[in-house]
Parts: sequence; structure tokens; C-alpha cells
Amino acid sequence: MNRPVLLVVDDDAQVLAALRRDLRGRYRESYTIISASSGEEALATIRELKARGDSLAMVISDQRMPGMQGTDVLAQSRDVYPLARRVMLTAYSDIDAAIRAINVAHLDHYLSKPWQPPEECLFPVIDDLFDAWQAEHLPEATGLRLVGHQWSPRSHAIKDFLAGNLIPYRWLDVTLDLDTQSLLDAAGIGASELPALFFEDGSALRDPEPRQVAERLGRALSATLDLYDLVIVGAGPAGLAAAVYGASEGLRTLLLDRHAPGGQAGSSSRIENYLGFPTGVTGSDLTRRAVMQAQRLGAELLVPIEVTGVSIDEGYKRLTLSDGREVLTRTMLAATGMEYREHPASGVADHTSAGVYYGAATTEAPAFRDRAVLVVGGGNSAGQAAMYLSRYAKDVQIVVRRDSLSPTMSRYLVEQIERTPNIRVRARTELERVEGNGHVERVVLTLEDGESLVEDIDAIFVFIGTRPRSDWLPARVLRDAKGFVLTGRELLSDAAYARTWKEPREPLPLETSVPGVFAAGDIRAGAMNRVASAVGEGSIAVRFIHEYLAQ
Ligand SMILES: Cc1cc2nc3c(=O)[nH]c(=O)nc-3n(C[C@H](O)[C@H](O)[C@H](O)COP(=O)(O)OP(=O)(O)OC[C@H]3O[C@@H](n4cnc5c(N)ncnc54)[C@H](O)[C@@H]3O)c2cc1C
Repeated sequence: MNRPVLLVVDDDAQVLAALRRDLRGRYRESYTIISASSGEEALATIRELKARGDSLAMVISDQRMPGMQGTDVLAQSRDVYPLARRVMLTAYSDIDAAIRAINVAHLDHYLSKPWQPPEECLFPVIDDLFDAWQAEHLPEATGLRLVGHQWSPRSHAIKDFLAGNLIPYRWLDVTLDLDTQSLLDAAGIGASELPALFFEDGSALRDPEPRQVAERLGRALSATLDLYDLVIVGAGPAGLAAAVYGASEGLRTLLLDRHAPGGQAGSSSRIENYLGFPTGVTGSDLTRRAVMQAQRLGAELLVPIEVTGVSIDEGYKRLTLSDGREVLTRTMLAATGMEYREHPASGVADHTSAGVYYGAATTEAPAFRDRAVLVVGGGNSAGQAAMYLSRYAKDVQIVVRRDSLSPTMSRYLVEQIERTPNIRVRARTELERVEGNGHVERVVLTLEDGESLVEDIDAIFVFIGTRPRSDWLPARVLRDAKGFVLTGRELLSDAAYARTWKEPREPLPLETSVPGVFAAGDIRAGAMNRVASAVGEGSIAVRFIHEYLAQ
């Protein structure tokens, strides 16, 4: 198979030669480095690569060129190779323009000239971008193939599990990919056994549970120790941060998640406000980095493992897992975050995972190429989903009850949405009913004046109201009226505090009403509902866990 390609574009022959030389010196074993001296030539090359079936891993383009500008080259390359990383090469004096262009051309990075020494200014950035590309890219002839029906909830569950756990796979819809029938026939797999997951060696799992997939892929599903210092339940940003700090500070740390690491943030198509990522970072990229970091520092990660209950046994915490096994620990961090509430409109429940999806925009978006989709909700998560869907769908409508998106959505997203021609905002509108035969076909909306409007729609992505995932915690862990967990001094004003807390000291910050049980992130009453605050709380919790253990 051909090596993946890195394309460098610059009209300045000297710069082009110097950059090609530095890149070849380091990457020629794994990548083919080619160049173009204009935007037009670069786009022609990209189309040729596509026609030959080659993989394009990265385009680095100078911004100022006669004719086509770098931003246009990078934006257009995305239509042909959506996964290829896009880097703008710019003079130091043009950095402001490069930063502005990041939103328009969806750049992954910018490099300023000169990039000397390359070991510090060039290679770390390129290494990182190649890693991110490798994690998403699947060569044509290899890897996992999932065969099923687009409208099957079982297929959606496996897709969601694979995507959430950053396992690259190819999705084959039996009704669209005619070749798949011969694949199924050859393996003797009938229609009732779908979805089927094919492995590289030709073997297949029929209608598997996520746990069977994890087992088959050699993922750890059993704890290795009899006793841990810290067990973290939930591997979203809060849990991952606690795992990094816990393990790095020598605590025997176990991290469990019922679905996939990353949590809500893992499903985000682009987090733009997390410190240190000037061009934004996808939820899957942030998760990949955090998981690698936590495991490198010694944390154990088990996925998919759900915690269903906790009992307290002379200060030890005994966690019950959904498969009946138990894990024993001295301290525990509840970091199970929130989930979206089900939309109450009629027909929604009947079509869940068959055209109605909760927070699954990045998993399902490619299936709705050139179709019409609806996003329900006015928060940042809805805005990000609409932007992501607009890359595939021909028509994206955002339905919100309020007058506009401004009160609930960050300005940068509102501006991006306004600039995107295939997104429409329907303000003062509600989803009334979902209709279809086995999958979503149309919706009935209630408009501001009370009139009903019927629209043909292929999928609905719901991002409304959230509820904490705290029902697995014992009743002794006090919560507010909505189910969010109370911690630290907030507990003191709760009516049940005196009955529950029997220690001679006050609860530590982030400690719940059960000594040694801590909570961080979105599950906590008063949480900020941001990636950065969840990460902050997960990290801080470890400091108080040490304090508790030292007592
Ligand atoms: C689509 C989307 C986009 C977003 N974009 C941004 C953004 O741009 N910027 C920003 O700052 N914030 C953003 N947010 C908000 C941010 O992602 C959350 O505030 C953050 O993820 C909360 O982290 P957490 O660790 O507390 O919980 P979560 O992220 O909710 O993670 C909780 C984890 O616990 C697991 N779990 C639940 N119950 C159990 C159980 N019983 N046993 C085992 N595991 C369990 C879940 O599977 C999940 O992985 C976004 C949210 C969404 C949904």
C-alpha cells in the first residue's frame, strides 16, 4: 500500500525547498512528501490523489500566494479529504489573520515562518497532527467493518461504542452497499443476526453487545488489584483528570466507564474554549490524549463497565458492577456527569436511534449526507452539532423555543451558524410530533402563532435539558432536588446533613455526605458545566483524597 501523503504548498521556491527538506529528513520513512507551487496546482494534485485511492494525511499551505490564497486551498481540500490535517504557513506578522482564518477554513494549526529549530518549532506540531490523523484514519482495505441497517438501534449502539472508544471502523449499510450482501452470505450471516462486526482476519461477531466487542478487541475488563486507593466512576473530563493526578501522585487508581472515555466532551465535534488549544480541539482528540496520559502514568481503565451500586464497609467502599462483580477501594470519586433528557414530543421514543439521536452528531452525521436534519436545543452542544452536521447534510434546521440563539449559545458559535448557508434557525418553535415508518420521515412543528407545520426530515438530534447520572449512588449521598450531588460546605445547610454526617470534622471540599466519597464535574450541584471546570475539579479532588487518606 502507498504511504500516506503530506502536501506542502508555497509559491516561494526557497521556502518550499527548505520545508520539504526538513519534513523529508524526519518523515520520509512513513509518509510521502510532495509539493505544489500554487493553490490551483495543489487542488489538482489533491483530486489526482483521490482518484488514485491514495490517503492524504496533511496539507501545509502558505497563506499569501498569487491567485488562490492558503485559506481557500485548505478549505477546499477538506471537501475531498475531510480527515486530512490542515496547517497554514504564515509570516509572524500575519498571525492575527491566521487565527481569524481558523474558523473559516477549519484549520488544525498554523506555523509561523521561520520554523527553526525544527525539532522545537515544527516536528512536535506535525507529530501531534499525524497522531491525531492516524487515530481517525482507516486504510481502505483493512480494519473493522460493521454491517447493519442505518435505522437499527442495535447498529447505532455498536457504532456509538466504537466511535466513543476511538476504534476506527468502516460502516456498511446493507441497504446501500450492495457488496455487503456477498460478505454476509460468505460468512453465513442472516438478516436477523445484524449488525455484524467483521475483523481483519475475516471472523465476525453477530449482533454483539459492546462488552463482547471490547473482549474480542482484547480490552481489559477486570480489575487487577484486590484493593485500590481511588476508584473513579465515569471517565469524562473530571474522571480522566482525577486519574491523571491520582496515578501520577502514586495512588493505586482505577477508572471505570459504562460507555466510553471522554463523556459528553468526547461527543463534542470541536471544543473551542479549552486552554492551550488555540485552534480548538475535537472531543475525541482531547479524550485520546487524556486516556494515553492517564494510562502512561499508571491508571487502570476498564470500559465498558457500569457501576450499579456502592456499599460502605468500615470505611472501605465496595462498588457493585453491572456483571455482578465487586471492586474494593479506600476512596471513590463520582464523576458520572449528566445525560440529556428524553424529548417529550409524541413519536420521539418510538424513533430513538432510528433517526432520533441524543448527542450523537459526530457518530451519525456521515449517514445523513445530502439529507435534511433537525437539531433541537439552543445551547453550545446544539450549536456545535449543527455546525458539524452542516458539513454533510444539505439542510440543517435548529429549533429553539426562545427568540434567538444568543441568550444560550456562545457568540463565536452564533456567528459561525449565521455564516453557514445550509443552517436555518427556527426561533419560537417547538417539536410537536415525530412520524415515520420504522425511521424518522417527518416532523410536526408548532410555530410561534400556534400553527402546525409539517416538514420532511431524515434525522433529529436532541440537545435539550439534562439530568445528573446519580441514581447509582446510595441514599446516604445527599443530593439537591434535581438529583445533583451536594459536596463540601454546601452540605451544611441541607436538612439531612446532621442525620447523615457523623465525623468530628466538616466535609472536605468536593467530599459528599459519605466520608471518603467525593464528587467532581457535572454531577455536582453548582457545577459550571464546562470541560475546564470538570478537569479542574477532578484534579483538585485528588488533593482532598490525599488529605482523607492521610487521616
Ligand atoms: C456535544 C457537547 C459539546 C460540548 N462542548 C463544550 C465546549 O465546547 N466547551 C466546554 O467547556 N464544555 C462543553 N460541553 C460540556 C462538557 O462536555 C461537560 O461539562 C463535561 O464533559 C462534564 O464532564 P464530567 O466528567 O463531569 O461528566 P461527563 O462528561 O458527563 O462524563 C461522565 C461519564 O460517566 C460515565 N458514567 C455515567 N454513569 C456511569 C456508571 N454508573 N458507571 C460507569 N460510568 C458511568 C458516562 O459514560 C460518561 O462517560 C459540551 C457538552 C456536549 C454534550
